[in-house]
Amino acid sequence: MLTSRLHLKPKNAAFVAGLVFLCAQISSTAAETSRSSDDLYYLAQKSYYHLMKSPDKQKFRHHWDEVIHKFSKVAERYPKSSQARKAVFTVAKLYDGLHGVSKNAKDLDRAFHHYKKVARDFSPSTLTDDALFELARIYRDRKNFSSAARIFKTIFEKYPDGDRAKNARLQYQRLAAIVPVRKTGEPSARLVVPEKKSAPRRLEKKRMVATKTKPSADKRKSSAPLIVVDAGHGGKDYGAKSAGGVYEKNVNLIISRHVKTMLVRRFKYRVVMTRKDDTFVPLKGRSEIANNRNAELFVSIHANAAARKSAHGIETYFLGEANNERALATAARENGALVYSVKDDQVQKILASLITTTKINDSSRLAGAVQDSLFRSSKKKFRESKNLGVKEGPFYVLHGTKMPSILVEVGFLTNRKESRMLAKPDYLYGLASSIAEGVHKYMQDKSLSI
Ligand SMILES: [Zn+2]
Repeated sequence: MLTSRLHLKPKNAAFVAGLVFLCAQISSTAAETSRSSDDLYYLAQKSYYHLMKSPDKQKFRHHWDEVIHKFSKVAERYPKSSQARKAVFTVAKLYDGLHGVSKNAKDLDRAFHHYKKVARDFSPSTLTDDALFELARIYRDRKNFSSAARIFKTIFEKYPDGDRAKNARLQYQRLAAIVPVRKTGEPSARLVVPEKKSAPRRLEKKRMVATKTKPSADKRKSSAPLIVVDAGHGGKDYGAKSAGGVYEKNVNLIISRHVKTMLVRRFKYRVVMTRKDDTFVPLKGRSEIANNRNAELFVSIHANAAARKSAHGIETYFLGEANNERALATAARENGALVYSVKDDQVQKILASLITTTKINDSSRLAGAVQDSLFRSSKKKFRESKNLGVKEGPFYVLHGTKMPSILVEVGFLTNRKESRMLAKPDYLYGLASSIAEGVHKYMQDKSLSI
């Protein structure tokens, strides 16, 4: 740990400089307003995470309404703030999510209305293409294929560098095969309220099903989604260590290699590893690999450690504020020297404010799918395996990536029994399979929802 700490020193300085620059920027633009909108947004975000983490709460409309109300307040009180757009987008997402539970078409109408607001009423931003994408998706789900196709086209033409461009083009191509798409006046095309079901559209649906299989099967070979598998630590950075002399860096690498093989052979994804052997790769380099290759997902694999030797179990993180001491300690350990360099709460706040809502939603879903799959399979071989659940933490490596990303902690090397399991090749193989399965499950769910 000390070696990596020393090594990271220069990068610390750059990171701190970055933070200072950021803070300076924020304070120079109407300090008062931005601070209070930040606070309000922060509170809304907090209740959002609570709702997302509680399937029980999600069953009741009033819990959704409560969170929606908080975000709406941000947009109403500070319409000019940088948080307003994010708040409206999150309101849309919430109505979208609520519709998933309630199946009430009115909730989807409200989601549509708010996505439209983000795309139309705010100046173009990184959320514009996301909002347009959701609008197109709703159109498509409501079988208004021509409007859906028109918006998908707008996305990849107007926002070719956005993270939605690739998928939008794919969706457009699928739709263009089944509906004639008007060649004029796309970008500023009116956003029409979704139509309701009628007889001819049922026909369109049938045709879509019929034409869908062939082209997408051909496509899969050339443009299978790319997943980056990140084996934590490596080289001079050993990571955690068990009493029996098992090093985290080796556990991570063994699991990561299996994950790669399974994702490629069994599920037909493309995979890039941030390291294939026992070499040192700085944290920044890892997220850069994923960003430069335009990866769809980033999965970082680690083993845990704690001062309390009885601590054991599996947990999966996505980027956010740590909401308990141990999550913060875990993030601090995995970040190396980074977190110690600035006041913890300051790092947390800034990291959290930089995340886009879309990335959080997707990351949290990915984390859920992987965590479920991991725990279920580990329990079969290790009866004492414990489900520590999905958590948030200010992990530097997750912060650097532009795509949905998670950090998996497969177990505690500081726990006697669990570290013994983590020394068994077949146990590691089982963990790897379940990580790959979780990733695949997420990808499947996602493709269904698009
Ligand atoms: Zn680690």
